[in-house]
Amino acid sequence: MFDIPFRNLAAAHRQLEAELTEVISEVIASGVYAGGPRVESFEREFASYCGSHCCVGLSSGTDALWLALLAVGVGAGDEVITVPSTFMATVEAIRRTGAKPVFVDVDSDSWTMNPGLLRGAITERTKAILPVHLFGRMAAMWEIMEVADQFGIPVIEDAAQAHGAEYNGGAAGTWGRIGCFSFYPGKNLGGIGEAGAIVTDDSALAARIAALRNHGQSRRSVHEEMGWNCRMDAIQAAVLSVKLRMLDGWNEKRRFVAMRYTEVFQRVSGIVTPAPSGSDHAHHLYVIKVENRDEFIDSLAKSGIECGVHYPVPAHLQPCCTDLGYRPGDFPVSEELAARCVSLPMHADLTHADVEKVISTVVSTVLRRRAA
Ligand SMILES: *Cc1c(COP(=O)(O)O)cnc(C)c1O
Repeated sequence: MFDIPFRNLAAAHRQLEAELTEVISEVIASGVYAGGPRVESFEREFASYCGSHCCVGLSSGTDALWLALLAVGVGAGDEVITVPSTFMATVEAIRRTGAKPVFVDVDSDSWTMNPGLLRGAITERTKAILPVHLFGRMAAMWEIMEVADQFGIPVIEDAAQAHGAEYNGGAAGTWGRIGCFSFYPGKNLGGIGEAGAIVTDDSALAARIAALRNHGQSRRSVHEEMGWNCRMDAIQAAVLSVKLRMLDGWNEKRRFVAMRYTEVFQRVSGIVTPAPSGSDHAHHLYVIKVENRDEFIDSLAKSGIECGVHYPVPAHLQPCCTDLGYRPGDFPVSEELAARCVSLPMHADLTHADVEKVISTVVSTVLRRRAA
């Protein structure tokens, strides 16, 4: 066990235990467990939280991405532009539609989609652009939307790490045609199991996704098209409704931790901190770049501090993508980030003492290595 775990999901729920137990008991008593009124009320609450007209609750973030792509008409033979610096689910969702992922590198400061590379990647087969708000920082949506609108290509946002993030006054998930969220337990807003959702202002798209998640039924027993089972379950919806009220406060704590980390680390040579974002960052993960990552992680572990690596291999170099024909060196910014990134403990339950201990341990580890 670590003194300071990378994240502590049980601790996050302890403060809500009485309330969660109550809503879960209500779900059990209601007899409605898959979809139903709990899911509908969470959908209304989350749509309003994001400032969107519609929300459709789903079984996971991966399903949200998949159904969003299907709903805008992506299929076999099409291309979808995304970044190699992401969690594999982004790429899986594209491939599951039969379309081909086309990667563009991330920007060296923001570590999100480099909008300057978009035009060069667009072909007549491009059916969607899928930026990822990686680590909770929103991609350069203004620039991305400008290119997308010029070519008339729909944008689907992967906002799985960005609940509550904002950019130029627009919330994550509301810039593109559809925003996709994950409520995987470790996310800024997470269930006590799997869940996800899409948000959109387009009620026809929302209705199509709502049908697709329920075996393609637009009405009971009328299967308009082939769908799947991607419904949200009522317990997750009830838990998420309770936790949604805490989200802004938790994100504020994350921002405070990130600010304190950056304040110190930016003055230490040997640590590359995230560049200032000029947007409301959700700080899902706090990622720095270091030299000799393995040694760094071992040294922190010896002091009782748990780190993560998100993500050590960029998507274009994963074994499941070799058929796409990419090679090492194709996306240098993503590859360098993958080689050097470390995620430090980041959650709303870190105490002041925890944060100061992480800071002093990180600084002494880096300085010791530079002196050696
Ligand atoms: C978590 C995550 C997903 C997938 O969400 P699940 O709910 O786990 O299916 C997709 N994209 C990104 C960037 C994620 O972090």
